[in-house]
Amino acid sequence: MELLYRNENRLVVYNIKNLLESKGIPSELRNEFASNGAVEAPQIFVELWVDKNQIESCREILESIESKNLKDWICSQCGERNGGAFELCWNCQNENG
Ligand SMILES: [Zn+2]
Repeated sequence: MELLYRNENRLVVYNIKNLLESKGIPSELRNEFASNGAVEAPQIFVELWVDKNQIESCREILESIESKNLKDWICSQCGERNGGAFELCWNCQNENG
């Protein structure tokens, strides 16, 4: 397994995981429930790991998302900003538009 992507917002990582799954690529979340027990926990980055054999195609998928340069959109339901590649709001799962 190799680290493909990480983000402090686990919902963004979930969205990418779903995107990969829709293309038939299995992936694994790590640090999802990590905690060091401290009162003021540092930022925990949720990580998305994929099989070493698939990391190149996964990177291409991520790059194609970024190169599309899709406009961010604002969720009409909760007002959160979402990346243009995502069809569902990361926060409330509302559909784009
Ligand atoms: Zn929303």
